[in-house]
Amino acid sequence: MAQVISRAGWGAKPPSRRLDRVTQTRGVKVHYTGGHVPPSIVDDHRRCIELVLSIQRMHMAGGREQPYSDIGYNMVACPHRRIFIGRGPGVIPAANGPGLNTSHYAVLALVGSSGFTQPTDELLHAVLDAVAYLRQHGGAGTEIKGHRDGYATDCPGGPLYAWVKAGAPRPAETKKPTPTETEALVKQLPTLEKGDHGWDVKTVHHLLIARDYGGLDGVDDTTFTAAHEAGVKGLQAAAGLTVDGIVGPRTWPVLLRIA
Ligand SMILES: [Zn+2]
Ligand SMILES: [Zn+2]
Repeated sequence: MAQVISRAGWGAKPPSRRLDRVTQTRGVKVHYTGGHVPPSIVDDHRRCIELVLSIQRMHMAGGREQPYSDIGYNMVACPHRRIFIGRGPGVIPAANGPGLNTSHYAVLALVGSSGFTQPTDELLHAVLDAVAYLRQHGGAGTEIKGHRDGYATDCPGGPLYAWVKAGAPRPAETKKPTPTETEALVKQLPTLEKGDHGWDVKTVHHLLIARDYGGLDGVDDTTFTAAHEAGVKGLQAAAGLTVDGIVGPRTWPVLLRIA
């Protein structure tokens, strides 16, 4: 779920008058800004906040013919998978066009008609998370439509509208690979080579013996000696690793038999 940005979180002005309420809608209509959105927005969330503030100012100043009492959208979705509370759930929007505001909530996606025009996966996730939020908190129904459905406008732009028409599918989650337990364990182990001392050398010493390496009779187990190096090289050769005698992230798992 996207991170939710409260009105205080983006510095919203209070509405100029009390807004009309709605308890449920048939669904949601998706919008774009209709203007230029600088492509650099993708790398800088502060630009999203500036843009939402400027849209609220424009709406309240009469930029859409008659002045709105507040930003016209219920929610705004940004390319950082965050969702802004606009008017919020339970409030009639102003953005869908005359007569079309009680049947659908309005969600703005921060893409434009020039500059940043192709919604990214993160932005589409945010749009769907905004829809989910309106379903959970505002009684939004299952419909997801575009502003241009039922009103003469280009909004929400070609790419976003094509996605809406395709059924607004959620993009595949791009999961960052989580390190395996082995990798996590090995990350905590130091890289050891000839000349090193200490407890971890002791571990290498006794693991080599446990792996049937016979070259360590009477050898000090706290210093990484040439004898240890020879044993490590033998293991590395058997495991198909680079034979360098150094116990690093590839060799530790072999020694520990967790590879
Ligand atoms: Zn629109
Ligand atoms: Zn953002």
